[in-house]
Amino acid sequence: MMCSICRQGETQPGTTTVTLERGELTFVAKDVPAMVCANCGEEYLDSSTTAATDPKIRAFRDRIAEAQRDPTSDAVASDARVRR
Ligand SMILES: [Zn+2]
Repeated sequence: MMCSICRQGETQPGTTTVTLERGELTFVAKDVPAMVCANCGEEYLDSSTTAATDPKIRAFRDRIAEAQRDPTSDAVASDARVRR
């Protein structure tokens, strides 16, 4: 599709980095499939499909749910990267 930011480039299949935040927790998923503008590099993530189907993001959501059920769980801290 045509890039809606620069309106000059066509988007092509590529990967991007997705950052998810839940409260004080931040999760960074790298190499998530996305459409990337060949001209300006703007990344388009189809949130309705990619975020729901990417295994890394699904795993993160599972860990968040787990941590919220059990605040003492270290499931999140051991695997997710926390960025400040
Ligand atoms: Zn563009």
